[in-house]
Amino acid sequence: MTMTHSGKTAEELMSLEDKYGAHNYHPLPVVLDRGEGVFLWDVNGKRYYDFLSAYSAVNQGHCHPRIIGAMTAQAGKLTLTSRAFYNNMLGVYEKFVTGYFGYDKVLPMNTGAEAVETAIKICRKWAYEKKGVAEDQAVIVVCKQNFHGRTTTIVSFSSDDDSRKNFGPFPSGFVAIPYNDLSSLEKMLENPNVAGFLVEPIQGEAGVNVPAEDYLRQAASMCKAKKVLFIADEIQTGIARTGSLLATCGNCSCEKKCERQPSTYFKADMLILGKALAGGVYPVSAVLADDEVMMVIKPGQHGSTFGGNPVACAVAIESLNVVNDESLIKNARELGKVFRSEMEKLIAESPLIKLVRGKGLLNAIVINDTPEGKTAWNLCLKLAENGLLAKPTHGNIIRFAPPLVMTEEQLMDCVSIIRKTVLEYKV
Ligand SMILES: *Cc1c(COP(=O)(O)O)cnc(C)c1O
Repeated sequence: MTMTHSGKTAEELMSLEDKYGAHNYHPLPVVLDRGEGVFLWDVNGKRYYDFLSAYSAVNQGHCHPRIIGAMTAQAGKLTLTSRAFYNNMLGVYEKFVTGYFGYDKVLPMNTGAEAVETAIKICRKWAYEKKGVAEDQAVIVVCKQNFHGRTTTIVSFSSDDDSRKNFGPFPSGFVAIPYNDLSSLEKMLENPNVAGFLVEPIQGEAGVNVPAEDYLRQAASMCKAKKVLFIADEIQTGIARTGSLLATCGNCSCEKKCERQPSTYFKADMLILGKALAGGVYPVSAVLADDEVMMVIKPGQHGSTFGGNPVACAVAIESLNVVNDESLIKNARELGKVFRSEMEKLIAESPLIKLVRGKGLLNAIVINDTPEGKTAWNLCLKLAENGLLAKPTHGNIIRFAPPLVMTEEQLMDCVSIIRKTVLEYKV
């Protein structure tokens, strides 16, 4: 048994988590110790390609030196003032991030779920104060198979039994329609109390469900016609992951920040960001909207002790600059095409994989097994043995989402690990 530099074996470290931590996760049995770029090392010094990127939080790669540099410099100077006072980073960040994504205002929070909650609150308040919905009657339309986080309000409109069961009673005011279904949306929008449509541009947790080409743009224009806010949860899909700055940018192919080609682009009324907004080094989330929407929030009506703290601001600015300076949008788009075409070749060779789907470097393969089967899990164990970390989502689906700083050579190395693992797999 190898001893690690913490003086404990991997088995001992796993049993510590098992004994002292709540059992709200079921991790793959790998104990990680260090990360750099596209790589992770476990406590025994074994190297892996990271093919999950902490659910797309680490788009810029592990421990990016510029992001870590920005964080440590700020951490040595000032970390938290609360919003009781001004600080010298927040306004600078707010100007930067609103310019970067093209909105009038930002409301800074910390985690993704908090930002989703924030968007729900703003949407409801807007409905009562701007749209004229009667008090307590506002409805927010969501999609089945959604994932928007873990608060009681958010899980109330989840269709996943594990997420919901025995966490009630739940608030009202949400209705779920099938994803990628414009006629269901159209019917729902006939209700004048509908205030917003909250949607993931690609459903990541549900197994990388990519909607029809024009679904989002059409949904947005239907919402606009009915004075309903189109709220894009781009916590997982945003910030270069799908080969455009935002997944709602569609096929817009501008390289740096979005230049908003009107033929393919539409702007969500509210944009929710998290995860890669801070390169996976710090919890930073945000809701972006224009004044007409954001200004319904007045002092004292919403807040967060840590939201918009100076470290968060410094880290987020550097994380977004890295996206531009290292052309991560273009890289995600090009490597995504290569990856899917390599997976198509593998599908032709192996009955184990049914299909590959995705956009940019947010992809998934569907394993030829029932959702209750163990093949995807076992395949992930073998992938780890062979030096690549990925995790099943929803049973028979494996999500593949490496850091966007990957090179084509590294990607092809990963393809050969996946190939070898799949072809050697014994059912
Ligand atoms: C991860 C995620 C969230 C929740 O973010 P947390 O930081 O875990 O609270 C919400 N929506 C989507 C689409 C996500 O991928």
